[in-house]
Amino acid sequence: MKPIIVLTTRYLSEQTILLNAAYTTAIIEAGGLPILVPIGVDSDIEQVLSLADGVLLTGGVDVDPAYFGEAQHPKLGEVVPGRDALEIALVKATMSKGMPLFGICRGHQVLNVALGGSLYQDIDSQIDREDLLLHAQKEARVEATHFVDIVPDSQLARIVESDRIAVNSFHHQSVKDVAPVLQVIAQSSDDVIEALVHEDLPFCLSVQWHPEEQACAGDIIARKLFKGFVDACEGYKSIAARS
Ligand code: MN
Repeated sequence: MKPIIVLTTRYLSEQTILLNAAYTTAIIEAGGLPILVPIGVDSDIEQVLSLADGVLLTGGVDVDPAYFGEAQHPKLGEVVPGRDALEIALVKATMSKGMPLFGICRGHQVLNVALGGSLYQDIDSQIDREDLLLHAQKEARVEATHFVDIVPDSQLARIVESDRIAVNSFHHQSVKDVAPVLQVIAQSSDDVIEALVHEDLPFCLSVQWHPEEQACAGDIIARKLFKGFVDACEGYKSIAARS
C-alpha cells in the first residue's frame, strides 16, 4: 500500500476546482498516492487525516493578511477565504499528529502564517533593495531563474544533497516575520526566505519555488525533494500501523 498524500486545491472564483497536474504527477512518480481535498471540509479534517499519511499544501492565490494582523495592501492579489481557513486548520491538525507536511509556494506562506508568522503582501513594493531579484518570472514554469542558498547540513540540504540549487519563481509575496517554531533553511541572494522547516518534526518543510514543475521535467534535485517527502509519509504510515 502506498502512502496517501492529501493535496489542497486551487479555486477559480470559488466555483471551479483546479490543480496543476504536475503536483499529482510528482507525488505519483515519487511513490505516493495523491487525493485532492476541496474547501468546505473544515469540520471533517480529522476524518480526512485519518485516511492520509501526509499533506501537501499546493500553490495558489494570496493569503488574507487579516491572518497576520495587517490591512490589505493595494497590491494584494485575489484571496479565497475558505481556502485560507481550511489550510490553516490543516496545518495545525497535521502538525499535532506529527504527520509529514510539505508546503509549496502559497503552501510555504500558509505554513508560516498558520504558525504565527507574517508575509510581505507584495515583494516589489515592500522590499526596498537594489539587488531584489525578479521573483515573478516570465520564463516557462520548468525554467530555473534564480539560485537559493541552503543552510548546510539542514534537512533540506541533506535531502537534495546540495547547498545551492537553481529554482523557478512564481510569487509576488514572501515570508516576512518567521513563525517562532520555524527555521529559515534557504534564501535567495536578496535574502528572500525561500524555504522553512520545523526541525523538531520528522518532515515539516516548505519551499517558495515550484519543485513539482521541475520534478516532472526530470530535474534530479526536485525529484529528491518529492522522494524525501513521500519517504517520510511512508515512515509515518508504518509507525501509525504499529500503534
Ligand atoms: Mn523566488
